[in-house]
Amino acid sequence: MEQHQKRTWAEIDLGALEHNYRTLRAMLPQQCRFLGVVKANAYGHGALAVARRLEGLGADYLAVACIDEAAELRVSGITAPILVLGPTPIPLSAEPVRLRLTQTVGDLESAKALSAAAQTEGRKVKIHIKVDTGMSRLGFVCDEAHMAAAVEEIAAICALPGLEPEGIFTHFSDADSCEDFTMVQFTRFLDLLEALKGRGITFAIRHCAASSATLKFPCTHLDMVRPGLALYGHYPDPSCEGLDGPGLTPVMRLCTRVAAVRTVPAGAYVSYGRTAQLAEEQRLAVLPIGYADGLFRTLSNRGAVSIRGVSRPITGRVCMDLCMVPAGEDVQVGDVATVYGPEQPVEAAAELAGTVSYELLSAVSRRVPRIYRG
Ligand SMILES: *Cc1c(COP(=O)(O)O)cnc(C)c1O
Repeated sequence: MEQHQKRTWAEIDLGALEHNYRTLRAMLPQQCRFLGVVKANAYGHGALAVARRLEGLGADYLAVACIDEAAELRVSGITAPILVLGPTPIPLSAEPVRLRLTQTVGDLESAKALSAAAQTEGRKVKIHIKVDTGMSRLGFVCDEAHMAAAVEEIAAICALPGLEPEGIFTHFSDADSCEDFTMVQFTRFLDLLEALKGRGITFAIRHCAASSATLKFPCTHLDMVRPGLALYGHYPDPSCEGLDGPGLTPVMRLCTRVAAVRTVPAGAYVSYGRTAQLAEEQRLAVLPIGYADGLFRTLSNRGAVSIRGVSRPITGRVCMDLCMVPAGEDVQVGDVATVYGPEQPVEAAAELAGTVSYELLSAVSRRVPRIYRG
């Protein structure tokens, strides 16, 4: 279908992705590996197309959240190493082995299950050990009180048959806003690595930097970085942008096309719940995008879209499939409206919706076709 026939679409500029990849790569020391995070359908940009481009550009690793996301890439022919960041349920332990994935391991029990599955399959499986340095999510807790226990458990895992302990990593909880706590976490991580080294245990790939730390804390790059959001051209902390930012380019432009323009009389209410009432007669443009496309309903009477270079406020509630904006004198049926794009930043919409750009981008739903260029 031609783009001009689509109701709503997301233009994905793979040239911009390439630019962001090269820009980030240029910040890294020569030997530092690059893992591109393509979980959640590549933050809404389309996992397969993004993975193919990153693989072509020479990214060393890809990462997804779960087995199903990894399987989608493998069956489509992606051969690059793939790290599964999340835990794989014990009954599915054979999957990472069969799909030749690298599985994150954050506890002894799942490591044993993975080891057993690898032996059954007659093949080794790569693992990366997950360390909890202050996020309290997954992995071996390694603050001072738990350091010794963590070392014991990790050593026990590394001795299991069928496992190839290739990497070890941690995740920063506050790298976009707090340097001090990030360094507390980083120091815990380095202390753990030292203690493991004392036991003769070392890892080829030590990593901890997602986008924020990749951009802001070069000392944390170690053997590999793991950017997601920055690859897609956005800054985890929008205040970083332009300071001495490296000049990332947004990859997605979310567009819709004016489906109807109607002249609505003074006093009329607009959309569900009668939350907006027109003071005067007004031309209203009806846009075929709603919350089922990923346009947050919390943007009702708050967000805006850009048409003909003018920002137009969403009037009344966002419906499942539609929303309304003032059409002024000029807007016509068929005009393209930019929902997120350079003139209508997703960061601004995220702020109004009380969330982060990550959530808005990854919420662009399956109903919205992705159109690739570049
Ligand atoms: C999602 C994720 C990343 C990427 O984070 P960004 O802030 O998007 O760069 C890196 N590491 C882990 C463990 C993640 O879950």
